Amino acid sequence: MFNLDKSINQKINLPLEYGVELFIKREDQIHPFISGNKYRKLKYNIAEAKHLGFTKLLTFGGAYSNHIAAVAFAGKQFGFETLGIIRGNELEGKINDNPTLTFSRDCGMQFKFVTREAYRNDKLIDKFQDFYIIPEGGTNDLAIKGCEEILKESDMEFNYICTPVGTGGTISGLINCSQPSQQILGFPALKGAFLQEDISKFVSKNTWKLVSDYHFGGYAKINLELIRFINEFKEKHDIPLDPVYTGKMMFGIFDLIQKGYFPKGSKILAIHTGGLQGIEGMNSKLKQKKLPLIE
Ligand SMILES: *Cc1c(COP(=O)(O)O)cnc(C)c1O
Repeated sequence: MFNLDKSINQKINLPLEYGVELFIKREDQIHPFISGNKYRKLKYNIAEAKHLGFTKLLTFGGAYSNHIAAVAFAGKQFGFETLGIIRGNELEGKINDNPTLTFSRDCGMQFKFVTREAYRNDKLIDKFQDFYIIPEGGTNDLAIKGCEEILKESDMEFNYICTPVGTGGTISGLINCSQPSQQILGFPALKGAFLQEDISKFVSKNTWKLVSDYHFGGYAKINLELIRFINEFKEKHDIPLDPVYTGKMMFGIFDLIQKGYFPKGSKILAIHTGGLQGIEGMNSKLKQKKLPLIE
């Protein structure tokens, strides 16, 4: 069901004068609904939930969350009831307007919509003792263990490993399994100074860096330049990028390459962390704003 063989390193053809080589690891192709890093992060959590005898999963997310969709599908696939605590009580009764929530509901997920204030409240979960709880974005120790399996032995040849960053779980796994000679570059998809500290808790190496210039104003914020980049990238390389994470990372990598950030001869590996389910939801917002759509 999961097609790990499809997570190949695909070469991106660049103008020769750039003097670097760029590959993209197609983690997005592992599975249509539990793709990319969400597969990696759920793998050991699902096994643990089964092992401990849980029959219900509980998790948290925003209305367009790739994580919510992945947990909903995983629940259906592996025989768990699922409950999603969704940030934003204004969404109650509007599930049909939102492709991610519609998909998740059709997988059997139940929802509890909460205000943004209540969402931040830790006491919220006291009521759900019989659920296996997966944190927002899916990041915990078992998720990081899963993300430590993204890099293969043959990836040792790369000088730079690039990844989008949300909660920092994926980059932590990559850092832990990287070689001392490799630099890990994280491209945060949101504004926030907390990430540096969060990641430091999970890793012991210092061969990593956050490149914070490409969040485009914050989480799920997007502009015409980014939409054009994603569409041109798809047309040229036949690889879809999502607007929230991988599009911003790839935009950043191209910008850094053009600015000469990477020494000549560098071999760069970008991780395609998936997230393609989010395109439909983003397009419905773009349509309202009369902006061009992601193809
Ligand atoms: C969730 C997600 C991320 C962020 O991963 P973290 O482990 O939270 O940093 C990156 N890319 C995609 C496509 C995602 O869905």
